[in-house]
Amino acid sequence: MEFPFAESYKIKMVETISRSSLSDREKWIKEAHYNLFNLKSEQVFIDLITDSGTGAMSDRQWSQMMLGDESYAGASSYYKLKDAVKDITGFEYFLPTHQGRAAENVLFSVLVKPGDFIPGNAHFDTTKGHIELRKAFAVDCTVDEASDPELIYPFKGNIDLNKLEKVLSSNPKEKIPFILLTITCNTSGGQPVSMQNIREVSQLAKKYDIPVVFDSARFAENAYFIKVREQGYAGRSIREIVREIFSYGDAMTMSSKKDAIVNMGGFIAMRNEEIFRQASLFNIMFEGFITYGGMSGRDMNALAQGLYEGTEFEYLDTRILQVAYLGDKLSSYNIPVIKPSGGHAIFVDSLKFLPHVPREEFPAQTLAIELYLEGGVRSVEIGTLLADRDPVTRENRFPKLEMIRLAIPRRVYTNNHMDYVAVALANVYERRNNIKRGVRIVKEAPILRHFTVELERL
Ligand SMILES: *Cc1c(COP(=O)(O)O)cnc(C)c1O
Repeated sequence: MEFPFAESYKIKMVETISRSSLSDREKWIKEAHYNLFNLKSEQVFIDLITDSGTGAMSDRQWSQMMLGDESYAGASSYYKLKDAVKDITGFEYFLPTHQGRAAENVLFSVLVKPGDFIPGNAHFDTTKGHIELRKAFAVDCTVDEASDPELIYPFKGNIDLNKLEKVLSSNPKEKIPFILLTITCNTSGGQPVSMQNIREVSQLAKKYDIPVVFDSARFAENAYFIKVREQGYAGRSIREIVREIFSYGDAMTMSSKKDAIVNMGGFIAMRNEEIFRQASLFNIMFEGFITYGGMSGRDMNALAQGLYEGTEFEYLDTRILQVAYLGDKLSSYNIPVIKPSGGHAIFVDSLKFLPHVPREEFPAQTLAIELYLEGGVRSVEIGTLLADRDPVTRENRFPKLEMIRLAIPRRVYTNNHMDYVAVALANVYERRNNIKRGVRIVKEAPILRHFTVELERL
């Protein structure tokens, strides 16, 4: 017989989670103004709001915490992390930051000017926020295949080279500080970018003499997909693939809370010494001295260890098969999910799920609320709320896809939890025709509104 799926680790410590009643949840979500970010974690049974910083560290990472060097300058933990970053990514220069958006803030302070264009593949929300805050523009050049949720296409994170070249050829070089390649592409469903596409983007970038920057939060998951889906890579190790990916770029920003399996942390790594020098000034201003940048020594140690664990095939296989397990389960209940399953999350197509709720009434947010009410499962809206308003016209932006994301924390939940989530969603699906109205905005912030928005049910 063929062996079934089994995790590549066993459990050494547990954390209790509790169920609640429907009437409790009705009260709590109302108090939270129908914004799931406002719920207290103990009001949630299974928390799939994000895979960011929610992973379980290993015994080896915890043991590294004890060896942390808390010296202000030149700590051994800094050198341990610097060596790990060089070893894994190949980048010579490195700056620690407290998380991914801090890395964006520091690097973009050097590179982005008002009126600039930054072409890329479905820029992440904080990344877009940091671009638009500087009065520059994120230009989405993702392949059209990404917007067809049913289409099985192995690399839906890819950049459309024609769209990219159009941006490069129709603007002066000084207006395009870099091309941003997001691996994997969070916003379009956790979809990977192929090595061929990365290589071709890099060739195009060279032709126009424009640097390539990787938004690398899930670089290891992207490497896993290259290994299992792209011709010629089955025999290569994850670390070899990672080194090849980064060889095509000039710099990277990293949210270590994702593929480096720590609860907090980030970094910037780059090839160019001059950019490193300029970024160092902003790092000191915003983050801390360049040998800690907002991180404790112990956290840098755990991160260095996490970079190695996060790039092991057995671990990645366990993780991505669990995500696929949830995706397959939902499909078996006929729930419309984005295909193929992404690296870190399953995305549910809310326009298909709740066809009666008008787009102006935020169908994805409505579905996230219903899923919480049904089973205490917390997901997140990836739709019109997240897409925010156009910075110029201030009109709502309606993205092609309206989704909820079920993000799976690393090494945290078992497949029994996945079964529970699938049943909760299936129960909502069964009563979907009774859900006809959504929500409306009562209060919102001028940027990144989804975190703090207050809503009411219609
Ligand atoms: C999470 C993430 C970021 C931002 O990182 P934080 O650590 O949350 O600040 C940037 N880009 C991508 C693709 C991400 O997934």
